[in-house]
Amino acid sequence: MLPSFSFVATANAVRYCGASPHFIDIDECSLGIDPHKLDAYLSGLVQMQNGTAVNIKTKKQIRAIVVMHTYGQPVDMQKVVEVATKYRLPVIEDAAEALGAFYRGQHVGTLGKIGIFSFNGNKTITTGGGGAVVTNDEALFMRVKHIGSTAKVSHPFELSHDAVGYNYRMPNVNAAIGLGQIENLMLKLSKKRKLAELYLNAFSKLKGVRIFEERAYAKSNYWLQAMILNKENLLARDEILIKCHQQGLLVRPAWTPIHQLKPFKQFPRMDLDVTNLCAKALINLPSSPSLVN
Ligand SMILES: *Cc1c(COP(=O)(O)O)cnc(C)c1O
Repeated sequence: MLPSFSFVATANAVRYCGASPHFIDIDECSLGIDPHKLDAYLSGLVQMQNGTAVNIKTKKQIRAIVVMHTYGQPVDMQKVVEVATKYRLPVIEDAAEALGAFYRGQHVGTLGKIGIFSFNGNKTITTGGGGAVVTNDEALFMRVKHIGSTAKVSHPFELSHDAVGYNYRMPNVNAAIGLGQIENLMLKLSKKRKLAELYLNAFSKLKGVRIFEERAYAKSNYWLQAMILNKENLLARDEILIKCHQQGLLVRPAWTPIHQLKPFKQFPRMDLDVTNLCAKALINLPSSPSLVN
């Protein structure tokens, strides 16, 4: 179970392990999965069999709930964990965009069974490429480390592998770049917050559009700023995009929802009304911390 409103990587990861993505809707405020809608959906879809959640339509076991903290804005995790507990599903956090974001004082990525962060070039800090996995589960940690290091069996000289692994270790050179970047992290975060405040002020008197703003329970990292058009203004979006580009302002639309992408069209989904609406209503704004001093 994962949001369709995300970067394609969230769904790719599901396919890499041979599982089927099942797309769920988001709520308009957090732009992350809507746990209330998910609960209602699962109650009509799931039968518990020996402590596992089985999809009554496909007879397949549901394995996990994946949340993604959109543009660094935390999902309402308390309710997500409640739903996950009810159906005995682990929660996986795609916190790729959310380094420096907190849910009720706790850093996102640490609220489920396992979380990931991205240090790709477009993220808050970068190692050129790669990322990090975080978990409190030691067995899971060892497993991630093992299969990410070609599943090589530890031995003084023998070269043996006990699973199909990956070469996903971060090279030391990249890790060193990341450590350097951490020194600037707090400054970058405070600049992004300042930029969000500037946008909020500038847009506060405009009708028909709102700035994507942090929820009361959360501290966003404001990785990517976004404005959201009201329903009656959806048709203006393309004109806004074109006019801004003519002025040299590099705004851009939201992702095409994953369930609409060719490799994911055939997978199951709930009704995705809010996802489809937000995908048409959202415009990402220039978000570089270098825009404020
Ligand atoms: C950036 C990103 C990822 C992972 O990106 P990598 O390039 O593999 O580091 C995953 N999910 C989301 C939502 C992202 O924005």
